[in-house]
Amino acid sequence: MADKKEKRFRFVIVGGGIAGVTCVEQLSSQIPSADVALITAGPHIKAVTNYKQVSKTLEEFDVEERPSSVLEEKFPNLTVIHSAVKSLHTQSHSVETADGRVFGYEKLCICSGGRPKLLTQDNPYVLGIRDTDSAQEFQKRLSKAKRIVVVGNGGIALELVYEVEGCEVIWAVKDKAIGNTFFDAGAAQFLIPALVADKPESAAPCKRTRYTTEEPAPGASQTFTADRNSRRHGSGPTEAGSALGPDWHEGIVLRGTEQVSRRVLLEYQCEVEKIFTSEELLNSPQQTLRLENVGSWPVYIQLTNGKTFGCDFVVSATGVVPNTEPFLSGNNFALADDGGLHIDDHMMTSEPDVYAAGDVCTACWEHSPLWQQMRLWTQARQMGWYAGRCMAAHVLSEPIELDFCFELFSHITKFFNYKVVLLGKFNGQGLGPDHELLLRCTKGQEYVKVVLSGGRMVGAVLIGETDLEETFENLILNKMDLTPYGEELLNPDIDIEDYFD
Ligand code: FAD
Repeated sequence: MADKKEKRFRFVIVGGGIAGVTCVEQLSSQIPSADVALITAGPHIKAVTNYKQVSKTLEEFDVEERPSSVLEEKFPNLTVIHSAVKSLHTQSHSVETADGRVFGYEKLCICSGGRPKLLTQDNPYVLGIRDTDSAQEFQKRLSKAKRIVVVGNGGIALELVYEVEGCEVIWAVKDKAIGNTFFDAGAAQFLIPALVADKPESAAPCKRTRYTTEEPAPGASQTFTADRNSRRHGSGPTEAGSALGPDWHEGIVLRGTEQVSRRVLLEYQCEVEKIFTSEELLNSPQQTLRLENVGSWPVYIQLTNGKTFGCDFVVSATGVVPNTEPFLSGNNFALADDGGLHIDDHMMTSEPDVYAAGDVCTACWEHSPLWQQMRLWTQARQMGWYAGRCMAAHVLSEPIELDFCFELFSHITKFFNYKVVLLGKFNGQGLGPDHELLLRCTKGQEYVKVVLSGGRMVGAVLIGETDLEETFENLILNKMDLTPYGEELLNPDIDIEDYFD
């Protein structure tokens, strides 16, 4: 490497996703005279548009894929380099790219995101969805498919199962309820009718204070079918690179070969035992397999509940693995249990002058009791922004404190066409039995859950147009003792905003 000509920058950011681009924007605005390089594997960058601060901690924005020239025009001292980083040399403060170039840095921020955690590597019948390329591949395969198996219970699986039409979907989840990453079994029960039909049902609000939901028995199945008239049209250009975001399925037709609109068979509390091809099935001594449907399929999936399904392909939607590989060799990075780069409250890794933000890193500082890391768009933006501020503060020798956005976990999204707002310890995470739940539910309209600990609100799940997010956020942040209000807190006849004015 010593004979390779090196170009030096004050700041080098790796990754053109939300975290990297936000970090670049922050640095370039704070120190306009500094040379900044953005090194990214993909040809496009991700830009945050229509940013809206909904409340103190809730934010909403759109994400667009843009040519990197847009960023270079905005920041004259920025150079965008389109190549993948293949190695990092923390001692000499330099990175080498796949096309053989070497770039030196004073401060480096790694924002290389994550990649799908696949059930098996190199199996042509197992797909992961991460970027536009993989989404297009999925669409292509789906257009010829009669039946697919979706494995996973996070946001991607939820969206996929809801959006796919004209193809039977076997959905294998390891939990007792769908959407376990985001909410509880009660919310799952509320959402499930949306898999049957998208006609909103109206009913009188029913106030429930006890958390009762019938959980399916281990290995149990549930089938849902629906006929939908709405269809999506059009297909945009695709580029590899950054993770897709909330509306990744907009503009692509997610349709199989069948006439049925939606048919979902849910298999609860099971994982994948084995995946094999039709030849392997024929030649294996496991002829005793409990095949759920006859017919010939290219691939078969055996679940831990003993059932085996044939299908056209399997979608592995079981989370992401941080993209750390190119940076590890020869360096001394501390890694968290989930494989992310360990970062402190200044977004610094364990290597000097190396920061990290977004899906690639794991926040290892002592978290606020109301915050947890989730690999989401909003957190990628917040981390990129704060990393940029920390890098600037460090070169300017200015003090900097952990940003307020890490005080309270907050997230707005859409599942099954419902607005979903999650606040704080929305699932009672880490609270043990030491918490109470208040619930209000109107079938097909709204689901409101409040988590109370020691009489104080510490989390909430709001599904539907509840308009409660700001008030609840304030109640959580104010740590007000709500014991005197009891169940009245969710009384639909009380205007809660006025109540606490
Ligand atoms: P990425 O966006 O993955 O960007 C990483 C960048 O690094 C890319 O530009 C890549 O090209 C580059 N890169 C990687 N390796 C190298 C290298 N060696 N050298 C140079 N460049 C490199 N979040 C939500 O909040 N809501 C949702 O509804 C939601 N839905 C999702 C649906 C899907 C299908 C997926 C895949 C993710 C979804 N997410 C959602 C998660 C969200 O997209 C990610 O958390 C977020 O995009 C992470 O941003 P990032 O900048 O850390 O990483």
